[in-house]
Amino acid sequence: MPCLAVLNKLSCYGLRSQSIIRVQNSGPMNISKRESCDVLVCGGGSAGVAAAIAAARLGASTILVERYGFCGGVCVSSLVHTFDGLRNCRKYEQLVVGGIPLEVVEELRRNGGLVTKDNPPECLCFDPERMKLAADVLLCRAGVRLLYHLFVVGVVKEGPRVQSVVAAGKEGLWEISAQHFIDATGDGDVGYFAGAEYEKDPAMQTMSTHFRVGGLKGRSTWHQLEQACRKAMDAAYAAGRAPKYGGPWIIRIREGEASFNCTRLYGDATDTRQLTQAEIQARQDLMGIWSILRESVPDFRDSFVLVSGVQVGVRETRRLMGDYVITAEDIERNRPFEDAVALGSWPIDIHPANGEVGVHAHKESPPEPYQIPERAMLVRGLDNLLAVGRCLSSTHEAHGSTRVSGTAMAVGQAGGTLAGLAFTEGLRLRDVRIQMLQERLLQDAVILEL
Ligand SMILES: Cc1cc2nc3c(=O)[nH]c(=O)nc-3n(C[C@H](O)[C@H](O)[C@H](O)COP(=O)(O)OP(=O)(O)OC[C@H]3O[C@@H](n4cnc5c(N)ncnc54)[C@H](O)[C@@H]3O)c2cc1C
Repeated sequence: MPCLAVLNKLSCYGLRSQSIIRVQNSGPMNISKRESCDVLVCGGGSAGVAAAIAAARLGASTILVERYGFCGGVCVSSLVHTFDGLRNCRKYEQLVVGGIPLEVVEELRRNGGLVTKDNPPECLCFDPERMKLAADVLLCRAGVRLLYHLFVVGVVKEGPRVQSVVAAGKEGLWEISAQHFIDATGDGDVGYFAGAEYEKDPAMQTMSTHFRVGGLKGRSTWHQLEQACRKAMDAAYAAGRAPKYGGPWIIRIREGEASFNCTRLYGDATDTRQLTQAEIQARQDLMGIWSILRESVPDFRDSFVLVSGVQVGVRETRRLMGDYVITAEDIERNRPFEDAVALGSWPIDIHPANGEVGVHAHKESPPEPYQIPERAMLVRGLDNLLAVGRCLSSTHEAHGSTRVSGTAMAVGQAGGTLAGLAFTEGLRLRDVRIQMLQERLLQDAVILEL
């Protein structure tokens, strides 16, 4: 049903420089600002950053819209200090991801943001403050037009084509039109507003608010500190003194400072009330956890909570259904795909929502690196919308592996390259030959097979 209907200039309502449009998910809205571009990337997390850089480098005029004042997504806003999925999780010395994700790592090395302290060997750790800088530098250098502090709230659609995205800013509503759209919001907001098919699992993974502790003393290695914290939490929980918790998993940032992945929140992060409740609960829980550690682990005696994430970290919400849905079997059996556009390599890692606490089993049987097909990015029923990153088309189980940030960046680059090629060749996304896409990705140092 066509729903792009510029109804009226608002002058007839007594307002200037505004117009009303009919928005797919809500009806008539007043528009204050308009923009247009060739490729619009919504969301500036791991996937969106790589997508926007790739599209802009191909010559497409590219805008990236992000609700916060920085890029990096949960890696920054939720203090997730690590990129997993860049390395073969069976053989850490082997890279499975190249291209733009490695340029991000290189920029972090250049700006002093790579954390070289004693940490889990599978993780590539960084300082989120430097990640903000690295993303700005790479995006601006590629010529991406950044629009921070814009929250996507709607879509204007005509038949199977998204015409524009509506976002809320300080001026009121913006309408940004484009030839091709990339949903990198993690929650699949653009697809959702466009009426795309999606799935949400009844047992969605738990959320976590990470927090950083300063003033740690002692000579414990990362491993010793993590083990001591786990012992303390297990004992406190058994005694009925601790809230629900995961891990704890610890990353050491610098001398005397470590980041804790430990809180465990339940609910649906695309439900505002539940998300609010999770934020409130998380703040109480993290202070409770820190108090337990301060009482029980000597390194914590003089410690203090430095900071917690800007928002609770969300692991799973909507998965947009694409022309192909990646399954656990594809990952476990390492199924080859003729339309491979990226490699993944992480165990099926599902933080359980069944009330379990502590460390869940997942690292025992990591899969061989596996291929991710182009079709998983092509949102079913829509001509010009791609899903990259956390909202990629996958089952709940497969998502437990594809969701990690290294894989999100790799898929982001593939999506941005596809959109960029579609624009420069004047084709629909589905009409870009897979050979052309793969050749371009290989030229840009992407790894498609080992
Ligand atoms: C607590 C937690 C711990 C994790 N630990 C690890 C780990 O150790 N290693 C690892 O590799 N991965 C880890 N992950 C997974 C991984 O970090 C994420 O799945 C991945 O980074 C997702 O990237 P993304 O770009 O798809 O989404 P996000 O990083 O969520 O980025 C989405 C971006 O879109 C923006 N956005 C959302 N909605 C809108 C909107 N409507 N309008 C405008 N902007 C919007 C957001 O602000 C955000 O910047 C963890 C995740 C969580 C939550």
